[in-house]
Amino acid sequence: MGKVIAGNWKMNGSAALVESLLPRLRQEIPPSFFQSGGTCFVCPPFPYLVQAQSALAGSKIGLGAQNVHPGDAGAFTGEISAPMLSEFGVTWCLAGHSERRHVLGDSNGFIRRKIESIIEHGLRPVLCVGETLAERESGRQKEVVDQQMAAGLAGLSESALEGLAVAYEPVWAIGTGRNATPEQAAEMHAHIRDWLRGHVSAGFAPKVPLLYGGSVNPANAHDLLAQSNVDGVLVGGASLKADQFLGILAHASH
Ligand code: PEP
Repeated sequence: MGKVIAGNWKMNGSAALVESLLPRLRQEIPPSFFQSGGTCFVCPPFPYLVQAQSALAGSKIGLGAQNVHPGDAGAFTGEISAPMLSEFGVTWCLAGHSERRHVLGDSNGFIRRKIESIIEHGLRPVLCVGETLAERESGRQKEVVDQQMAAGLAGLSESALEGLAVAYEPVWAIGTGRNATPEQAAEMHAHIRDWLRGHVSAGFAPKVPLLYGGSVNPANAHDLLAQSNVDGVLVGGASLKADQFLGILAHASH
């Protein structure tokens, strides 16, 4: 499969950034990236989705959301639903980002409901999983990731999961400048692939893009993307800077 390069702006950016960054991505992502089956999407904050949709109209760059509420509509002040996202050209949606889990209190059960709603409304879910530093230091990283996978996908059929992507983002590597080594990423990605083989099916597992996330930048992207089972990257900080994001994309364009 072609590489998947995704940008998560988090609670960063501005209307001015949408105006300056997205046209540069449109113009400067090498055509070979898309010709080789590559996928690129950006997840700006909600208020910029409409503006980003028009800035990306007619391009091959997709639009993603950083979060969603599992309900369709109702008395959930401050929340946004999947049907709303789909009205604005959003085709991808993150669920279970570590900041949502650890800072904003999303539980595994809530994340699973989000995934179900994302799928129901025809968007593609990116289930984010990853262990904390304490969990890695105590050797529990695979157990934690297994639990997050099992809870996030519980009861969803293989056909429902058709558009699934998984992002492995060790919490200790997010926004810290300390990325996992390519070997650590490869080891966990192989483990996630095996989990999908065992818990969904052997035919399904190879079709799921497995992204690595955590302090990805132009200097480390090449080695990370060269690992087997690393099908792409989810980029936070570096996705806000055109040169850096394009520098990462260059490693996925041949
Ligand atoms: C992220 O937000 O998903 C992320 C990986 O952030 P950063 O690249 O800044 O570590």
